[in-house]
Amino acid sequence: MSEKVLYEGKSKIICEGPDANSYIMRYKDTATAFNGEKKEDISGKGKLNSAISNLIFEYLAKNGIETHLIKIIDDTSAVVKKAEIVMVEVIVRNVAAGSFSKRFGVPEGTALKNITTEFSLKSDELGDPMINDSQITAIDIASEAEISHMRSQALKINELLCALFIKMGIKLIDFKLEFGRAGGKIILCDEISPDSCRFWDAATNKKLDKDVFRRDLGDVLEGYREVLKRLESNA
Ligand code: UDP
Repeated sequence: MSEKVLYEGKSKIICEGPDANSYIMRYKDTATAFNGEKKEDISGKGKLNSAISNLIFEYLAKNGIETHLIKIIDDTSAVVKKAEIVMVEVIVRNVAAGSFSKRFGVPEGTALKNITTEFSLKSDELGDPMINDSQITAIDIASEAEISHMRSQALKINELLCALFIKMGIKLIDFKLEFGRAGGKIILCDEISPDSCRFWDAATNKKLDKDVFRRDLGDVLEGYREVLKRLESNA
């Protein structure tokens, strides 16, 4: 397909959509980590993330979450609502891992006494620094009402995803969301996939996500395929 490319990111391409209120979002095979320092093409990753994220977005939509997904076009592309991305990443954690473990000295796998939410500024240049509510409003990235809406949607999404994934024998450790402004509302954008979540097999704690790539733990797509297979029979 040869739509006009509007933006090319690390793992997705945004093209002009079929009308003024939409884009076409296409998944790439590129995997990156450590702010783009580690980069590799993994053939088939785009297709897997696209299929996984579409199933999750459809499940969330069925359960009352407004998302950008309009229509699936093919294995790697979908029509999505045109949205102005809010320049923060919203991270929800159920279990300590990754940067939380490092920053606070809490061993990976420690269950958290409560669910945590955090924001980080979407800036590759600055390395996505953590940012708090008053800092977000101070530099005019989002309003207090928008922050509160994103946080409550993120917690609702966590509840819905935990319920789904536990049926699939998968623990949802943590994940990242992005939201955008469209038609006067804040809606869920971007993707939810093994690139943006930590998924651990509930029986073995085997990692089924991008940590396999980040940490060179073996066949990256094996876990992604497993997540898709289990989603197809549960979502
Ligand atoms: N995450 C993401 N994109 C980012 C940063 C984090 O999708 O730019 C996801 C990551 O896959 C994990 C969660 O957000 O599921 C929390 O990531 P963390 O802050 O622990 O950072 P990391 O250890 O990945 O650097």
